[in-house]
Amino acid sequence: MSISMVDLGEKLDGLLPGAVDRNVYMSKISRWRIGGPVDFLVRPQSVDELASLISLLDRSETNWIAVGHSSNLLFSDSGLRGVVVVIADNLAGFRREGDQIVVQGGHWVPSLARRLMQEGLAGAEHIVGIPGTIGGLICMNGGSMRKSIGANVVHVDCLDRHGTRIRLTQDDCQFSYRKSEIQARSLVVAEARLVFQPGDPSEIRSQMRSILRSRRLKFPLKQPNCGSVFVSDPKMYEKYGPPGAVIEKCGLKGFQIGDAQISPAHANFIVNRGNATAVDTLRLIRLIREKAMETFDCDLLCEVRYVGEDCATLPAHQVPVQLHASQDCQ
Ligand SMILES: Cc1cc2nc3c(=O)[nH]c(=O)nc-3n(C[C@H](O)[C@H](O)[C@H](O)COP(=O)(O)OP(=O)(O)OC[C@H]3O[C@@H](n4cnc5c(N)ncnc54)[C@H](O)[C@@H]3O)c2cc1C
Repeated sequence: MSISMVDLGEKLDGLLPGAVDRNVYMSKISRWRIGGPVDFLVRPQSVDELASLISLLDRSETNWIAVGHSSNLLFSDSGLRGVVVVIADNLAGFRREGDQIVVQGGHWVPSLARRLMQEGLAGAEHIVGIPGTIGGLICMNGGSMRKSIGANVVHVDCLDRHGTRIRLTQDDCQFSYRKSEIQARSLVVAEARLVFQPGDPSEIRSQMRSILRSRRLKFPLKQPNCGSVFVSDPKMYEKYGPPGAVIEKCGLKGFQIGDAQISPAHANFIVNRGNATAVDTLRLIRLIREKAMETFDCDLLCEVRYVGEDCATLPAHQVPVQLHASQDCQ
């Protein structure tokens, strides 16, 4: 059964009173500050509410996507016809059980890292500067210094596309570099159990400080961006070096299309200089990939995911886009 926008709005208001916004520009929410308006943006306050919401969206055949802090997403300029389900501070529970923790999907990663340090739990210092939720991080199997959060996962309690609860063990998650089964099946992380080693809080703190210092020096943190655009998986890294170095050697550092610019500070970052659009960014991604292939025979693949009008996501390099001659050089 598909449903009219008015009926859907009424049902959402009934289910999540006070937690439904209409026509929200994703450029106001996303860390890249790019994206047109979404019909409905909702913030469920509990896992039960989340399950009922997904079940409603499934029954009414509505397009939807779960997001955390939208720090790894490029939203369509035309916006999204459907529902964005935000799982962030609204679902951020935390408890410790021995060397394990149980954390809800919306927990902010930098504060989780600080909490692990205070608790004397070591092994995930590398996540300290990553601006996202633990649900997004697990979905992306994110991390830094070529480490990934999947290594700490015991199991993940997810909701499937019908709102049914399912538990995935670490094996079920099929983690690989910046990929997971959660991403492949668009499951929603409600809660995860993670394991660490006991450690000395002051050593953990000093490691985290040094990681944060080096990130502040390397990354363009003042302009809107989404972190590394291209994946730096260990095999590619061994053969070509980091994607930023490949792009720099192509002579593209600082190059821009519209207001989307390859950061002069770090070439694997694309920054929004004010009014960048998704199309500017996709064109720049295409241009980078063509140059890297032509110069080094190197096939750069995107870590960043594009969200289309139908709320479906795919790696940004898979989005077809024209590179018009009038717009390819500035
Ligand atoms: C300055 C900067 C630095 C960054 N550095 C790093 C880094 O060092 N390492 C790294 O890995 N990433 C990095 N990123 C990218 C990003 O922060 C991570 O991928 C982060 O984990 C994404 O979390 P999020 O909550 O913002 O997810 P979103 O961007 O909102 O979503 C990303 C994906 O996860 C899915 N998702 C979100 N929440 C859930 C959930 N609860 N359940 C299931 N799926 C969900 C979304 O559908 C989407 O497919 C950086 C980004 C920025 C802006």
